[in-house]
Amino acid sequence: MITIALSKGRIFEETAPLLAAAGIHADEEPGSSRKLILETNRDDVRLIIVRASDVPTYVQYGAADIGIAGKDVLDEHGGTGLYQPLDLQIAKCKMMVAVREGFDYQACISQGARLKVVTKYVKTAREHFAQKGMHVDLIKLYGSMELGPLVGLADAIVDLVSTGGTLRANKLEAVEHIGDISSRLIINQASMKLNREKLQPILGAFSDAVAGAK
Ligand code: ATP
Ligand code: MG
Repeated sequence: MITIALSKGRIFEETAPLLAAAGIHADEEPGSSRKLILETNRDDVRLIIVRASDVPTYVQYGAADIGIAGKDVLDEHGGTGLYQPLDLQIAKCKMMVAVREGFDYQACISQGARLKVVTKYVKTAREHFAQKGMHVDLIKLYGSMELGPLVGLADAIVDLVSTGGTLRANKLEAVEHIGDISSRLIINQASMKLNREKLQPILGAFSDAVAGAK
């Protein structure tokens, strides 16, 4: 049995066409089903529906053979035990630093001020500011990072930005680009060796579908 770990929402929507290209169709719609294990048209393939940030964990420990996870999530996880053979070019966005409109971020940097930063991406943020030689106090949040600077919890946020609509709606502006984000196919390293015959065609179909979508 090949188990594929996916998260609901945007990643699933953008993954469904890739699964279809590999001839895999879920028996039920994950959006409406409450089931966490979904059977497919193939007896030897099932899907499990997990939290986006938990996908690498399921694949690392072999509870799933394959997963699809954002680079943001993979950077925080660290990638232990995972192959990352394919950039699926879906769920694209950017990891950015943002501050309140008018807040002089560059002046803070040149004065060596100690910044307070809220983020869900503590590892990514720590590495980014360390590389710049900036001193920051990181505060972990699990969502609605945009609120932090508005209520005095922080000077800046590190978060994903796509259209910038949420930043604008909260009078924040992006001041630094940390990296480009997209979703990646991940495969358990031991499973890739043991199940290569079954996994390789799926990997190949995904790869062709991504190349065809360009
Ligand atoms: P939850 O919403 O359950 O707290 P989550 O926020 O991690 O979890 P999603 O919002 O579905 O889950 O995001 C899943 C992945 O989609 C992220 O890890 C990221 O790679 C990508 N993503 C997040 N926000 C955007 C966006 N605005 N545009 C494009 N891709 C995004
Ligand atoms: Mg979300």
